[in-house]
Amino acid sequence: MYYDDSQAPSFDSLIDQSAAIWNARVANVKLVEKDGAGGALKYYEGNDTRGSYYYGRGQGDGYIFMDYAQADVYAPLRIVAHETGHALGLPDRYTQPCSKLMSGGGPGPSCTNPYPDSVEASEVDTLWR
Ligand SMILES: [Zn+2]
Repeated sequence: MYYDDSQAPSFDSLIDQSAAIWNARVANVKLVEKDGAGGALKYYEGNDTRGSYYYGRGQGDGYIFMDYAQADVYAPLRIVAHETGHALGLPDRYTQPCSKLMSGGGPGPSCTNPYPDSVEASEVDTLWR
């Protein structure tokens, strides 16, 4: 799965860290940076009252928008890895604990965990089998 982070320069290293986190935990899909033409998943940054979000089908397509204000309050690496989880096909589960990446902002700003747990990782492997 190719991604293009050339339009999110403030988050470049966090996006690459997020890709490394996912690549270390899933076997059936590999995130590879490919800026410009050919990068299927795009990352953007800016200000949006909706906060950060993913738009797409959850199949490595679409785009992730990173909101500056939200990244000042919540752990930016957790936001990037969470939104990337959506691009890999996982839904929000806000009521789950901080140990779950897809609980997102549910556990509050003190939760900085940027890692999917083994259940979330195996869900992605199942989706990409
Ligand atoms: Zn989410």
